[in-house]
Amino acid sequence: MSEEKNEKFEKDTAGTLNGPDGKSSKTPSKGSANKRIFGIFFTAILLLSGTLFSTQPVQSLLHVNDASNERTIDLEGFAWDITKNPVITVLIIPNPDLPGWRNDYVEDVKQAFKDWTICTAIFTAEHGYTYLNKIRFDIHVAEANDTANGNYNITVKWVARIDSRGAAGGTVVLSNPNGEITKVSITIPITVDKNGQIITLADDDVRNIMADEIGHSLGLGHSNYPEDADYGFYDIPSKVICHSSLDLIGLATVYEYLGQGWFQPPAKSTVSLQGTGITYHYMRNGM
Ligand SMILES: [Zn+2]
Repeated sequence: MSEEKNEKFEKDTAGTLNGPDGKSSKTPSKGSANKRIFGIFFTAILLLSGTLFSTQPVQSLLHVNDASNERTIDLEGFAWDITKNPVITVLIIPNPDLPGWRNDYVEDVKQAFKDWTICTAIFTAEHGYTYLNKIRFDIHVAEANDTANGNYNITVKWVARIDSRGAAGGTVVLSNPNGEITKVSITIPITVDKNGQIITLADDDVRNIMADEIGHSLGLGHSNYPEDADYGFYDIPSKVICHSSLDLIGLATVYEYLGQGWFQPPAKSTVSLQGTGITYHYMRNGM
């Protein structure tokens, strides 16, 4: 591993069990149920195998449109069916046994969900796509270390550290053959290893990492723009990165079916702001 790579932290990787190609394709994947893993490195560590799948050219998966400098975001080809499941339930599972644990982390995660909701409201007030406000989270906090996840749609849990290469978050998204997301599991670490230095995540880091992971949990992939909240790499520490108009156009495309009233999964594709009349901007400054 190069020193250079260690300076950036993968929030996760854009790999998939069903095919490593994270690039654009116009047809949504049909057929068998899907398990999309954003954070393969991290999964290896969870299994305590000690093996890193580190040979995958992660960076190349993240840059979908190198020919132009256009800022883009990937859509994964699945969405929650809000017509059937009008509130997305979230269970946050604290883990106070972990060294360096702070109860504030729970608040950071809650705030990250609120950030999405608030930025969605700002975006729809400015630009329309008001069906996006139908996406609502119902957030619960479990008893410490409670692993009975029940029927929550999204769970969030912590581990001490994901791996020495510094993956900073992992999300597993399950979807059915109709392109409906059925379950999401998000994992975030307490510490990362930055060039051999163990750094404990600050509150802003947790919010930023969660911003990206929640994006995955809604059907978004990564942005190709390094300053975007949904970019696949993250500098630790950073101040809070606001969601951009690009992130919200991505979300608006994933949930376009809400405007017609019946479920239809988005195409697995890459979207930009081109043709929307909307410039790239952050939904607010200094959240
Ligand atoms: Zn990510």
